[in-house]
Parts: sequence; structure tokens; C-alpha cells
Amino acid sequence: MANSTTTVLDVDWAVDWLRRSAAVVAENRMALIELDRAIGDGDHGENMDRGFSAIVEKLDSEPPATPGAAFKLAAMTLMSKVGGAAGPLYGTAFLRAATAVGDVPELDSAAVAAALAAARDGVVARGKAEVGDKTMIDAWTPAVDAAAEAAAAGSRPAAVLSAAATAAEAGAASTDPLVAHKGRASYLGERAIGHRDPGAVSSALILRAAALAAGADA
Ligand code: ADP
Ligand code: MG
Repeated sequence: MANSTTTVLDVDWAVDWLRRSAAVVAENRMALIELDRAIGDGDHGENMDRGFSAIVEKLDSEPPATPGAAFKLAAMTLMSKVGGAAGPLYGTAFLRAATAVGDVPELDSAAVAAALAAARDGVVARGKAEVGDKTMIDAWTPAVDAAAEAAAAGSRPAAVLSAAATAAEAGAASTDPLVAHKGRASYLGERAIGHRDPGAVSSALILRAAALAAGADA
């Protein structure tokens, strides 16, 4: 298993990441539903739980051979099983990450940071949100920046992902005072103020799962 001094992450990390994501999404299903109830239609927790449960089933039946194959499996499953905005957005994120890493067996810190950047770029290409629009991009963009900085400073993958997760958590919290400019919450105008964006919260949970799978401290 990966630990904080591991220099490269392999398919076992990628699979562990997806399994931990499924667990944390299941654990936070009601919390995500409640966040989405406040500023959306209340289905985000259910959407994410359905998608990640399906990913775990696929991992059991068709174990991937590389990190890229694991990301592709996640992408395909999320796109086919999850409706709403988040399914195609997360699906695109994982698909772009898969393309970014290709079929190499191991990812170093730079490759991990590049995969996160590609994932974020995919969400932007698909959803056209910018930082401050009160979406998952408010978690992803600071995470990508923190990961790039940590990788450039020579940090190990666990520290790169830990920096990304911490930045994503702060980014999710930063959505509280915002009016939404994308997605269902944008219909609410000022009534969205004071509520945290559910997709930003699920993104932070998933990025923290990536760090824990890489051996970072909780
Ligand atoms: P839906 O809004 O269709 O019900 P979900 O509830 O599953 O789908 O997901 C809502 C989340 O999707 C939001 O909290 C937000 O983070 C994200 N989202 C919605 N639209 C966009 C967009 N255009 N770009 C980025 N993220 C978006
Ligand atoms: Mg919703």
C-alpha cells in the first residue's frame, strides 16, 4: 500500500482511491442531499452514491490494469449511471485524467498534478464555469493550483494530493457567500447565499480520498 514516502502511485492506488471515494460518498449521501435540497433539487447525494456504487461493482468484475484504465472505468460508469449535471461533469473529469496519464503503470507527482489539471479542464470545457460561480470548480481550481505548486516543490504524491484536498476543502467553504452563476442554483439568485455548493463538497471529499489512498495523514 502507498505511504507518505511513496514516489509513484500505481493501479492499486487508483482502485483504492475509487473505493474510498465510494465509501465517503455513501457516508455523506444524506449531507450531500441536504446541501442540494437547499440550492438545487436534492439529488446530488443519491446521484453520486449510485455512480460510485456502480464503479465499485465494475472494479470487482473487471479489475483495471493501470491508473488510466481505472480512471476510464470510472468515467464510463459515471457517464452511464449518473444523470443530472454532475454525472457528465465528473465523467468528463475522469476521462480527461485517463487521457492525461495514458497507459503508464506508475504516476509520479508531476503526473498526478497533471491528471488533476486535465480533470479540472474537462469540467470547465463541459460546464463553462469559472471560479466564483459557486460550482465544483471552486473546489477543483484551487486544488489543481495547490497540487501543481507542491509537485513543483518536489513533494511526494501523497503530499501533492493532500495539498489538493486541503485547497478543495477551503474552496468548497468559499462557496458559502456566493450567488451561483451556473447549474440549478443559479435560478435562486441571492437565495443561494449562505449555502455551500454540493458539487464542491463532493469534489473535496473525493480529493481527500485520493490523498488518503496515497498514504497521506487524515
Ligand atoms: P443537478 O444539478 O442536475 O441536479 P447534481 O445535483 O448531481 O445535478 O449536481 C449539482 C452540482 O453540479 C452543483 O452543486 C455544481 O457543483 C455542479 N455543477 C452544476 N452545473 C455546473 C457547471 N456548469 N460547471 C461546473 N459544475 C457544475
Ligand atoms: Mg441536483
